[in-house]
Amino acid sequence: MDNKGFREYRDQREQTISAMSSGELLLLLYDELVKRLMRAELALNKEDYDLFEADVTRSLEIVRYLDDTLDRQYPVGRDLARLYDFFSYELNRVKAGRNRTELERVTAQTLGRSFTIDDSLIQYSSGLLRRQDLVDKETYEEELSQEVGMVTAAYCLYVDGERIGATPYKGALEQLLEQIQLSATNEGTISVSFAENVEVKEEFVATDSLMNLGFLAETLYSTKTAEVTYTVAKGDTWSEIAEDHGLTSNELLALNPGYDINKLQIGEILTMSASVPYLTMTVVQQERYVDSVAFDVEYTDSADLYKGDYKVTSPGQFGAADTVANVTYVNGTEIERTVLSSVTLRQPVTEHRLQGTKDRPTWLPTGSFRWPTTGRITSRFGGRSSPGGIGSTNHKGIDIAAPRGTPVYASDGGTVTYAGWMGGYGYLVRINHGNGYETYYGHNSSLTVSVGQHVYKGQQIARVGSTGNSTGNHCHFEVRINGVARNPLNYLS
Ligand SMILES: [Zn+2]
Repeated sequence: MDNKGFREYRDQREQTISAMSSGELLLLLYDELVKRLMRAELALNKEDYDLFEADVTRSLEIVRYLDDTLDRQYPVGRDLARLYDFFSYELNRVKAGRNRTELERVTAQTLGRSFTIDDSLIQYSSGLLRRQDLVDKETYEEELSQEVGMVTAAYCLYVDGERIGATPYKGALEQLLEQIQLSATNEGTISVSFAENVEVKEEFVATDSLMNLGFLAETLYSTKTAEVTYTVAKGDTWSEIAEDHGLTSNELLALNPGYDINKLQIGEILTMSASVPYLTMTVVQQERYVDSVAFDVEYTDSADLYKGDYKVTSPGQFGAADTVANVTYVNGTEIERTVLSSVTLRQPVTEHRLQGTKDRPTWLPTGSFRWPTTGRITSRFGGRSSPGGIGSTNHKGIDIAAPRGTPVYASDGGTVTYAGWMGGYGYLVRINHGNGYETYYGHNSSLTVSVGQHVYKGQQIARVGSTGNSTGNHCHFEVRINGVARNPLNYLS
């Protein structure tokens, strides 16, 4: 509408309205308002209410205009304002009642039982407010619920769908989570994240379930008890399984009643109780450090060493490298390390070793006998006079004098059939060489083999001594065939 059109319209309206008295005008507007109020009350959604409010505001403007221009004697605007006030009050009372019903429903749902707000607790009164002091439905419900005191709108922390705690303070949980992550970081931290699905949700909770923030922090830093299982593996024992899980045998039995702890079956699943952290934090850090560099080993064949034996002739030395790596930690335990760069600071030094090529001796008898030790023969095989009244008059072996401690070797490969004290022999070793052959080594100061042991030809079995019926350090050596002593000198080579 252009200016000319508007002026014509206004003039026409003014003529119509000027023909009406102020009272008629008021009635007309009143009718309008009632119709709109009823429509708004029926629907009561935000759009209808806004429409209603806008209508009233527009009507008031018209009346003010009329007031100013047409009928200065009749302050029609003030009457209309009172009407508006009344309607607004009615409208808001209905809305407040509906909000109360909604709050009762939420409270009942949160507490898990029926709940109504006592009528004596609620009063409706009207009054003029500044527009910016008006609150929306959510805030109104929240404030009303605080007053009622049974449930509270709170910020709840969920870890993998489990509610850990709730606080009324906005932003506090986010800050707490940030602090926890921050405590695990330093200037080299690339990323930090929780493995769990961590959420903060705003919802109604029973007021007495609100938590002190310090307690909530403590909970998150602590561990929780969770049931874990253990599958019995080969070689496991009850007490070892218990110990590995920080339990006593009895505690483990209490978790697994009815088990026969002496008859564990491989594959059996046991219940364990374990502490697991509430939150699993993954931190990726960039680290710079001096890493040691492994040295190479070079082998040289040696006929002086048995196959499988080695001898270091010049030891290797680790090198050093300036290294930068991305390291991933899960709850402080390193699980991955990716080296980004490595600059050698010091070259490693190769180690040199001799590697044996000589065939390893076998305990199988060779069929020939070597001297058990080196020394002078002080007594031969066969009949002799008893020296000093002790010792046999029929000598079953030969005596080889040698200083105490001199090694005594197996004369041929075989199996040790006796190793210990035996009467006049003192400390004795007997070796079975098969085919009825046996050798004896007597008067030793100590033994280096035990019964059942396989020994190869030339292996040390004892040390020379003077135990048993003996007048000095020597090795008494016998060769027996099917239990009968023979002259060793006929067999030694
Ligand atoms: Zn002897």
